[in-house]
Amino acid sequence: MKCPNCLKGKVFPAVPHKNFPTEGIYCDICHGTNILPSHIKYDPTLGDIWKGSRISKGFTLREQSKQLKINVIKLSKMERGYFYDEGMTISWRDK
Ligand SMILES: [Zn+2]
Repeated sequence: MKCPNCLKGKVFPAVPHKNFPTEGIYCDICHGTNILPSHIKYDPTLGDIWKGSRISKGFTLREQSKQLKINVIKLSKMERGYFYDEGMTISWRDK
């Protein structure tokens, strides 16, 4: 599956930004390959549920990640619909 997060392995802002590199930045989901890695399940609907649940409780991303004991970067990816296989826990934890 093509990586839904990027364009040819690069990420661009939704709204053009003068401080954003014109060549885009490296995609941290597919690591620049533009192919969704097999250990990542893409489910934007489930991501919306996670995000909606957090917002309804009035938590920031950081507060929620602390409460769930989940790395804030992982939680952000989950809210965008990227879910990692449990076996890959170590690879994303420190990114
Ligand atoms: Zn990508």
